[in-house]
Amino acid sequence: MDTGSVELIERIGAVRRAARRAVAARLGLSLAQLDALEYLASCNRYSDTPAAVAAFLDTTRGTASQSLKTLERKGLVARTGDARDGRVRHLRVSDAGLALLAEVHADDVTAAVAGLGRDREDELARLLEAVLETAQRRRGGRTFGLCRTCRHLEGAPGDHRCGLTGEALSAADTALRCAEHSPRTAGVEPEGGTGDPRATGPHAIHPVGSEWAILDLNQ
Ligand code: SF4
Repeated sequence: MDTGSVELIERIGAVRRAARRAVAARLGLSLAQLDALEYLASCNRYSDTPAAVAAFLDTTRGTASQSLKTLERKGLVARTGDARDGRVRHLRVSDAGLALLAEVHADDVTAAVAGLGRDREDELARLLEAVLETAQRRRGGRTFGLCRTCRHLEGAPGDHRCGLTGEALSAADTALRCAEHSPRTAGVEPEGGTGDPRATGPHAIHPVGSEWAILDLNQ
């Protein structure tokens, strides 16, 4: 196999990481804190918990908690309760946090990708998302993929629902990352089968009758 494309992905990642590290340092943040902030700006309402942040960053809850405390102290993230479950805490990126991320995203790699034009950018995103999902599944971890590529997404555009929660999903919701994302089997299929990430990771969403509850991620 020609590993040229893999090496390119690595080099692009290194270029962007160097730019992000420089911006983070200028803004008084660590790269881990910036990663947490970026994740929270891209995830859905089922995935904005401290435990989900730790799982996404592949770190301990204690380490993620320290990053989140710093982001809260700087006014970049706000903590809110859950209307259904008093044990659950959600994390919302503040306006100041969104403004900071706009600055972070003004990097050369992002500009180069935008320069491809919408169609080629969408195709590139689709291919890279498939590669990322496959690699994550091979590791036995969660994919944290975009909702619109999840096998639990039901209904037609304008009338989407989550098959796990039964809740309606807006078009904007389907463009967000989800801790319970489960890829459709189409795309880049790993050798040796696929497997559902939920088989190896803790559940985050549990249908309870006509309701749902987030439990394990916050124990
Ligand atoms: S359809 Fe999949 S990705 Fe979307 S909210 Fe439900 S579990 Fe998450």
